[in-house]
Amino acid sequence: MEIEERKFKSIGEIVGNARRQLLIVDDEEINRLILGNIMGSQYQIAYAANGAEALKYVQENYRNLSAVLLDLNMPKMDGRTLLKVMKEDQRTARIPVLVATGAKEEEVQCLREGACDFFAKPYDMPEVIRARVANAIKMTEDSHFIEVAEKDPLTGLYVRDFFYRYCEQMDRKIEGEKDAVAVDIDHFKLVNGLYGKEFGDKVLIKIAEILANMVHQYDGIVCRPNADTFLIYQPHQEDHEKHVAYLDETVNSLLGSAHIHLRVGVYECVDQTIDVVTRFDRARIACDKAKDNYSRSFEMYNESSHRQQLEAQKYISAMEEALKQREFITYYQPKYDLTGDKPRLAGAEALVRWQSRAEGGLIAPGKFIPLFEQNGLIYKLDLYIWEEVARQMKIWKQKYAVDFPISVNVSRVDLYSPHLLNEIHGIIDRNGLSYRDIALEITESVCAADTETILSVVRNLRDEGFRIEMDDFGSGYSSLNMLSKMPINVLKMDMKFFQRKAGNDEIMDAMIRLIIDFAKVMKVPVIAEGVEDKEQADYLKAVGCDMVQGYYFGRPMPADEFEKLLQQGC
Ligand code: C2E
Ligand code: CA
Ligand code: CA
Repeated sequence: MEIEERKFKSIGEIVGNARRQLLIVDDEEINRLILGNIMGSQYQIAYAANGAEALKYVQENYRNLSAVLLDLNMPKMDGRTLLKVMKEDQRTARIPVLVATGAKEEEVQCLREGACDFFAKPYDMPEVIRARVANAIKMTEDSHFIEVAEKDPLTGLYVRDFFYRYCEQMDRKIEGEKDAVAVDIDHFKLVNGLYGKEFGDKVLIKIAEILANMVHQYDGIVCRPNADTFLIYQPHQEDHEKHVAYLDETVNSLLGSAHIHLRVGVYECVDQTIDVVTRFDRARIACDKAKDNYSRSFEMYNESSHRQQLEAQKYISAMEEALKQREFITYYQPKYDLTGDKPRLAGAEALVRWQSRAEGGLIAPGKFIPLFEQNGLIYKLDLYIWEEVARQMKIWKQKYAVDFPISVNVSRVDLYSPHLLNEIHGIIDRNGLSYRDIALEITESVCAADTETILSVVRNLRDEGFRIEMDDFGSGYSSLNMLSKMPINVLKMDMKFFQRKAGNDEIMDAMIRLIIDFAKVMKVPVIAEGVEDKEQADYLKAVGCDMVQGYYFGRPMPADEFEKLLQQGC
C-alpha cells in the first residue's frame, strides 16, 4: 500500500539530493561569513542583516527554506521578535530556527519561544553546529512527513489507514457508545465537470472544515478516504437529523449558487466487537440507501434493511440461471362467471412462482417481481411466462376445446420495450393461438403514469384483438380523465374493497357499487378479485358483478391441478 511504504522513506529520499536552503541572519558581516563558511559546503545559503530583511525573505521562501540560523541582538527587528512572528504564521512556523547565543538564560528563553536548538558564539566548534542544524532539519522533515502521510494534503483530514487506527484508539480510550458516519457528496463528478476542478477542491475543503469543526465539538474524528466521501467516528449522538440539516445548510450557504447535496449514512452505537472496516461499510450501506431515495438525505443502518438488501441482491443475481434451469413455474387461478344460475369457469390468471433449488422451496412473486421491475429483468421473465402459458393453452385447447382466455400479467416496464408487439406476435404464432386466447392484465398504476407512448402501445394491443384487463382497479392511482382514454375491455376491482376494517363497510359497499356502475357506463364487465367467502360472493352477484376470482372459488394452482377443473368442465 502506497502510504505504508512511504512512511518508511525520509523526505530526503523523496526530494533526492537537491541541496537544502539555510538562511543566516546576523547584523555582523563577519559572523555571517564565518557561519556561511561552516555551512556552505552542504547547504545553499541566503543571508539577512536584520530581522526585517530576514522576515521578508522567510515569507517569500518558506516553501524551500530548511532552517534559519538566527542572531538575537540586531537592529530594526531583533531575533526574538522575528522568532515570534515566524511561529505565529502557519506557513513559517514549521521552519526550524536555531539561535546563536552567548548566555545560558537566553538559551532556555529561546527554546520556550519556539527555537528548536541553539549554538554558542563564538563559532569555534563547526562540527557541533553542523550536527545540530542537520538534526533540527531531519526532525522537522520527519515530523512533517508523518503529517503528510497521515493527513490528506487537500483537506488536512486523516487518510483512511490512520483514521481506522485512531478509531481503535478511541474505543480503548473513550468509554461509551460510538457512531460510524459516512458522508457522500451527490454527483460530485458533475460538480467538478460543471464548475471545474478548482471549484470541486474548494467544495471538498469547505466540507472538510465544516465537518471537522462540527465533529471536534464532541471529540470525534474525520477522514476523507476517497475523493467525495468523508467518514466520521464519534461518541454517540442523538438527533443526527438536526446535524445533517445544519451541515447541508452551512455547506450551501458557504458555496453559494452551486447546490451541493450531501447524503449521510449512520451506523449508530457500533458493535465494537466487529472490525472498524465493517462498521464503516455499514455506515456506507446506509448512505447508499439514502442515495436510492431522492427525497431522503439521511439514513440509519439497520440490520433488517441490510438483510433485505442482501436478499434482493441474491435474487437478482440468481435470476438468469433460474430462468435457464426452468425454476419459474406458472400457477393458474380460475376465474368464474357469476351471471348464470351457478358460477361457470370462464378464465384463469397465470401467476408466477419461483421453485428455487437454492432456497429449497417456493418463493412468492411479491418477493421478487418488484425487484425485477426495478431493474428491467421482469421483461425476460414475463416473456418466459407468456410463452409457457401459450404452450399450455395450445395443449388445453386441443384437449378440452377451451374457449376462454388465460390472462397474463404485463408489467409497466414491458410496455416500454420496443420489441413487445413482435415478441407477443411470435408467441401467439409459434403456438398456433389466436389473440383472443391470451388476455393481458395491466395494472391501474400504469394508466396513472399516462404518457402517450404507453397509451398507444396498449391501444395497439387491444386493436389487434387482445383483451385488456385493468388490474387493481380502484387501488388509487388513476384519474377519471385517464380512464376515459384507456382502451380496456375488463375492469378488475382491487382486493382492498373486501379487506374490511371495522366501520368502513358502508364506504366499501358504496365503492363497489360505484365501480360496477362505472363499468356499465364504459360497457365493460367487472371482475372482483380476492373473494374469500360465500358472503362476499353472494353480495357481488346481488350487486351485478360479472366475474369473480379468489380463494373461495379456487387458489392459484399448478397446471395439472387446473387441468382437472378443465376435465370436469367447471
Ligand atoms: P395480482 O396481479 O393482483 O395478482 C393477484 C394476487 O392475489 C395473487 O398474488 C394471488 O395469489 C392473490 N390472490 C388471489 N385470490 C386471493 C384471495 O382470495 N385473497 C387474497 N388475499 N389474495 C388472493 P400473487 O400470486 O402472490 O402475486 C402477487 C403479484 O405479483 C400479482 O398481483 C402481480 O402483480 C405480480 N405477479 C404475479 N405473477 C406475475 C407475472 O408472471 N408477471 C408479472 N409481471 N407480475 C406477476
Ligand atoms: Ca394480475
Ligand atoms: Ca390484482
